[in-house]
Amino acid sequence: MRTKLIAGNWKMHGSKSFIESLMKGITEQLNAAMESDVLVCPPTIYIPLVKNLIGDTAIAVGAQDLSEQEQGAYTGEISGDMLKDNGCQYVIVGHSERRSLYGETDILVAHKTGKAIEHGLTPILCVGETLEQRENGTTMQVVEQQLDAVIDTLGIDAFAKIVIAYEPVWAIGTGVTASPEQAQEVHSAIRAHLREKNAQVAESIKILYGGSMKAANAEELLAQPDIDGGLIGGASLKADEFIAICNIAG
Ligand code: PEP
Repeated sequence: MRTKLIAGNWKMHGSKSFIESLMKGITEQLNAAMESDVLVCPPTIYIPLVKNLIGDTAIAVGAQDLSEQEQGAYTGEISGDMLKDNGCQYVIVGHSERRSLYGETDILVAHKTGKAIEHGLTPILCVGETLEQRENGTTMQVVEQQLDAVIDTLGIDAFAKIVIAYEPVWAIGTGVTASPEQAQEVHSAIRAHLREKNAQVAESIKILYGGSMKAANAEELLAQPDIDGGLIGGASLKADEFIAICNIAG
């Protein structure tokens, strides 16, 4: 049995006052008895603030990116060590916005994934196809290439310490969600791809769905056998909506 993970990716949104009120809404409404894991990924500068606002709830905190470097003259970068030092447990790597807007390649994402693991952070490795790639029938080719860069660099056993997020690029921030069938098809194919290398890793790895998940569609998506949670952008910035998804995950 895989425990579900509901993760909020706040992207570059918020301010101290916004985050205080969002965290108040989340912590006050979170069901302490829920079995799924809950994670929020604020902008890096607000991580200590969010750690303080979590109180005695079991909410984990993660970052949205990390450097592939250990330390040194890398202006503007944040290391895995710094994230760990500030209480992070997870870090998103290879989000499609980082890949498309900041030129992150499959191999760079693989190195970032390895750096996260080295520092005891759980990487949430994002993979997914563009609309054009879906329409020309190369979805699995693209996703497998993104996965294989990590497998070839770190080895399949590293996936025991990784969470995958399948995020079709055409569904991110667009309001268009993959249908439960479309999402399940890719999730199951990802698991099958990993199973070819290591069956145990394939069965235990969490594969989250991301792409306009909200309270209104979470139930159907989370009911799919290979969907183990959600990576949620827009809806994670509204406490009621995020809590509703957490409650659906149970
Ligand atoms: C995301 O950015 O990871 C995401 C899934 O965003 P949204 O939920 O807004 O589509």
